[in-house]
Amino acid sequence: MAPTVGLPRALLYYKYHAAWDAFFNHLGVETVTSENTSKKVLNIGLKASDSEICLPVKVFYGHALDLGEKCDYVFIPRIVQVEKGSFTCPKFLGLPDMIRAVDNPPEIISPTIDVRNGRHAIRDAALEVGRMFTDDEAKIVKAYKLAMKALRKHEKDLVKENIEKTPIEKLKSLIGGNEGNKEPVLRIGIAGHAYNIEDPYISLNLIQRLKDRGIEVVTPENVPMKKIKKAAKDAPKDLFWNYERDILGASYHWVKNKVVDGIIYVVAFPCGPDSTIQVFVEGYAKKEGPVPLMSIVIDEHSAEAGLVTRLEAFVDLLTESKLSAQGV
Ligand code: SF4
Repeated sequence: MAPTVGLPRALLYYKYHAAWDAFFNHLGVETVTSENTSKKVLNIGLKASDSEICLPVKVFYGHALDLGEKCDYVFIPRIVQVEKGSFTCPKFLGLPDMIRAVDNPPEIISPTIDVRNGRHAIRDAALEVGRMFTDDEAKIVKAYKLAMKALRKHEKDLVKENIEKTPIEKLKSLIGGNEGNKEPVLRIGIAGHAYNIEDPYISLNLIQRLKDRGIEVVTPENVPMKKIKKAAKDAPKDLFWNYERDILGASYHWVKNKVVDGIIYVVAFPCGPDSTIQVFVEGYAKKEGPVPLMSIVIDEHSAEAGLVTRLEAFVDLLTESKLSAQGV
């Protein structure tokens, strides 16, 4: 029977799952992705983790431990540096150790991804993992190449190159309700980590709620990397964390090119990097826009009613300000 490797549906899974699936599957290893986040998964995480840690890591515990009972291994890479000169959040460095420290931990595969280890650091990490399943080095290298190809395709598929301004006619047609209207009338940029904003449970279904109102949603993953890097040059200082640089760069790009009507910044409690970046984005949106910005802090106690009320108010504000800017 093929060995099984569990992929926790949390944290960097949202960025790299296409590569991880392609890599293991080429080696004849079956991957099992954990189920969607739920109360049950969160409760497992809450029980096993330190109460001081951020919500997404608590959620990660839940996914990893749930998978431990269903798979031979759980894949938890130690991702330190994916780009020279910047680091990931320290939580990603400690993730395998945190999971190993629980009672009855699962069997973990945790290669270190650190580009400071040389030009072939990522390929070398792939070889290390692949040797657990085969002696055929050529097969592992092929699996690595397929993984990188799958990742590039996944990232390309997410990019929306030509985000244009939303025409006012669509907005006018919406007044009085959007029943039957399939066109987006407002565009909102959701700034935040994919593992927060794309997880319907912990984001309280934020993206779908907006889409249900006929609003177009864009996220940092939709912005081409070259535009992110260019816009991030406006930051008051070079950023130490690369994933947060991407959120900041995407948000700056939206503001500078006036392609969104508003921004919702989703911050997990208690996240140090997000709290810092959020302040930069708020300042930039005010000074260079102004583009209205609302922050939402999510934790394990977040309630739907509070979110719905704030969203309604924010969307009304954006609609009115867009109409009045157009003299409607
Ligand atoms: S960046 Fe923030 S939310 Fe993400 S793992 Fe680090 S502390 Fe947690």
